[in-house]
Amino acid sequence: MTTGIVYSPEYLEHIPTRSTHPEARRRLILIKQILDEYNVFANPLIQLIEPKTATPEDVLAVHSEKLFELVKHTSEEGGGYLDPDTVASQRTFEIALLAAGGVIEAVEQCVQGTVENSFAIIRPPGHHATKKRAMGFCFFNNVAIAANYLLKNHEMDRVAILDIDSHHGNGTQDIFYDSSEVLYISLHQDPLTCYPGTGYIEDLGVGKGLGYNVNIPLRPLTTDEPYLYAVNEIAVPIIDQFEPEFILVSAGYDTYYRDPLTHMALTTYAYKEIFRTVKELSTKCKNNAFVTALEGGYSQRGLQMGVLISISEMAGLGIEVEEAPPEENHDINYEYTQKIVAKLKNSLSAFWNF
Ligand SMILES: [Zn+2]
Repeated sequence: MTTGIVYSPEYLEHIPTRSTHPEARRRLILIKQILDEYNVFANPLIQLIEPKTATPEDVLAVHSEKLFELVKHTSEEGGGYLDPDTVASQRTFEIALLAAGGVIEAVEQCVQGTVENSFAIIRPPGHHATKKRAMGFCFFNNVAIAANYLLKNHEMDRVAILDIDSHHGNGTQDIFYDSSEVLYISLHQDPLTCYPGTGYIEDLGVGKGLGYNVNIPLRPLTTDEPYLYAVNEIAVPIIDQFEPEFILVSAGYDTYYRDPLTHMALTTYAYKEIFRTVKELSTKCKNNAFVTALEGGYSQRGLQMGVLISISEMAGLGIEVEEAPPEENHDINYEYTQKIVAKLKNSLSAFWNF
């Protein structure tokens, strides 16, 4: 079986007006460059998937009509600010629909069994977009729209979302906070030190969704070892017990140690391990399927090597990336992470076994 890669040069046509905006078209140009350098698209284990445009129905199943119309009109008027960080250009509305549609097409190909798993190299990203609000470079919540699409169009009952972006996916949490059909697990930099300031361990969901929203905030400068410890102690057993029919990964590479926007300290080794783990978890899903969608990531090497190693692991390409790990104090963060993990296990033991 092959791994699908969703990509289109049209994704370069969302252009935040400020030339220094970190969520720039350059991000995708860099990713495409490294994949070409490693001949990834020529590999028989890889299949290029053309994205489709998400329908208004797909988007409105998750977002308010007011937000949909706001993004549409702002783009039609030539662009403008939706919040201080989130700037639409003339084609942003169409490209945001193509980003959401890219993730939908990625899951659709997996469900149909054309590919085993898929990586959607898309922008603008999505995980900060709430039901009613575009924020944090995000207009529509691509992963949430795809999760909802699976529930509605493929009659699934259980979809798991693992969010590894350095920022908390407040939008995804907001959309599924009262749902037991979508499990949301996020590892992110401590909200006291990082945008958007949400994602505390106490936020476990409401109503039917109680226990299906899991936040794992980690201290700045957390390195591979404690990060993977948190993945293996909390995310893995919960996803395993949830028995998802499909897994979606919100993949931000701003956890990389050289990222200019945030302060985590992961290396490519962590991404390799995360995707090896998700692939293993996905063997219990229908068709072994899972889809990864690009969220953030603002350093050249983090984006290039992070995406490369993730796709390599998903497809079994066997690409190795060597790098010297950052020199940080492992012990202090390990102890802190252990405390967070213990606290979480305590509050989540009403819902999950550890
Ligand atoms: Zn981020």
